[in-house]
Amino acid sequence: MSYQPPLPGSKIIIVGGGCFGLSTAYALSLKNKYDVWVYDRQPIPVPDAASTDINKIVRMDYADETLYMHMAIEAMPLWRQWNQERADMGLSPVFHQTGVLLLSSNGEYSKFERSSMQHIREAGYGHVIEEFPNGEAILKRYPQFKTAVQNGYNIGYLNKEGGWCNSSEAVKHMYFKCQQNGVNFVVGPDKGCLEKLIMASDGRGQIRGIQTKDGRTHDAALVILATGSWTPGLVDLSQQVVATGQTVIHFDMPPEYRQTPIDSPVWCADLSRTGFYGFPFNSDGKLKVGRHFSGYLWPREGDQISVPRTQITHAGDTIPIGALRDLRTFLETFFPHTSKLNVSHARLCWYCDSIDGHFLIAPHPDYQNLIIASGDSGHGMKFIPNIGFKICHVIEGIQSDYTRAWAWRNLSAKDTRLDGLRADVRSRPLILAEPDNEDARLATPEELLVLKAHL
Ligand SMILES: Cc1cc2nc3c(=O)[nH]c(=O)nc-3n(C[C@H](O)[C@H](O)[C@H](O)COP(=O)(O)OP(=O)(O)OC[C@H]3O[C@@H](n4cnc5c(N)ncnc54)[C@H](O)[C@@H]3O)c2cc1C
Repeated sequence: MSYQPPLPGSKIIIVGGGCFGLSTAYALSLKNKYDVWVYDRQPIPVPDAASTDINKIVRMDYADETLYMHMAIEAMPLWRQWNQERADMGLSPVFHQTGVLLLSSNGEYSKFERSSMQHIREAGYGHVIEEFPNGEAILKRYPQFKTAVQNGYNIGYLNKEGGWCNSSEAVKHMYFKCQQNGVNFVVGPDKGCLEKLIMASDGRGQIRGIQTKDGRTHDAALVILATGSWTPGLVDLSQQVVATGQTVIHFDMPPEYRQTPIDSPVWCADLSRTGFYGFPFNSDGKLKVGRHFSGYLWPREGDQISVPRTQITHAGDTIPIGALRDLRTFLETFFPHTSKLNVSHARLCWYCDSIDGHFLIAPHPDYQNLIIASGDSGHGMKFIPNIGFKICHVIEGIQSDYTRAWAWRNLSAKDTRLDGLRADVRSRPLILAEPDNEDARLATPEELLVLKAHL
């Protein structure tokens, strides 16, 4: 079906008030020629959205995926501008330029780190890289990684340009900027939640608008689904994307462990081999550690499409016991002091993984006026300041390297490659809470405590 960009004056509905939806709404609002409405099933920042957390990595290190490297480079000054905007309002910074320390193991850079440095240098940003050729060099700068170095994470580099963002605050900041520019918001489990798309009666794939859970209909010239990992459960995406649950834990660091310098970097522990990464603890002593990996599926009854299972619908949920065990075992070799600490918060956060690791931001081929802005594949947050401008190109039918990379693909399961950074692409994805699979059951709250740490 051929997509026609919206005419000036058109009403545009964006479903989803996370990173992709808000960034798009803001970019559209700057054009001053559309009537922009954002719907979300929860108040923003949405507690179980991928975009909501205490921190996310902001990095330009993308190996040979230079498209994303360039988009990250473009985002950096915007992050600093946001800090300035926040300072002017008396608010704390959203971006913390602590650097990102990318460690490899056994004295040799992994392909991801080698390729990232090469492309960053070729792009003219070699000055942001500080290499640590051996364990002594790492420890001279960052003594807190003593155990990690002893356990073989003994070569690496610091990307001084990167760091972390407080992603919930970043969402709030973009929400505020949208409101300032006249974007309309409808949020809540009934009035803000998309129930179904309303089709025009001519049978030609034209969407008239949306129906929300409260039964009301809302007309629009264009509907954009920026619904993250919920998207494959809302509209048929021909299996181009899948919702995968990814593990995150927090520790509350007691004062005696808060001695590491304030400029402690974000760290990645040979990411393409282990998947483990973490952050310096933040101002209230919370330390977050996560794992970028194949994740878990939660197939719904009937069509077996994996959909997010979160603490909004399943209040007591934690993370699978196997994932908790893996995190604890890894941390013994990296930050052993955490083995004495309770896990204060554990959550599955849902990626919308595309089949080839590229975002899926394109007109849906079965409709005349539906755009999918999804397929974040677990690395979209750093782009909240600028991805909306690229999504506008898709909306307005302007071709670019980005719109071509994110176009609708007709890939099949055999093309699956995720993003080349998943440590453990398993032969068969694990099903969350799968019966008869002890690793996939959810950990009990007691098992998050230190007494059960040696699982
Ligand atoms: C564990 C984890 C770690 C990550 N770490 C990083 C990182 O370090 N750096 C980085 O750059 N990126 C990271 N990411 C990825 C980043 O968080 C995502 O790429 C980004 O948040 C995706 O934004 P989104 O808007 O597509 O989805 P979301 O933030 O999930 O937003 C989707 C929105 O759609 C709404 N919605 C869904 N269904 C409906 C409906 N029916 N009606 C109305 N509203 C609906 C939801 O409520 C939600 O608010 C991480 C993600 C996870 C899960």
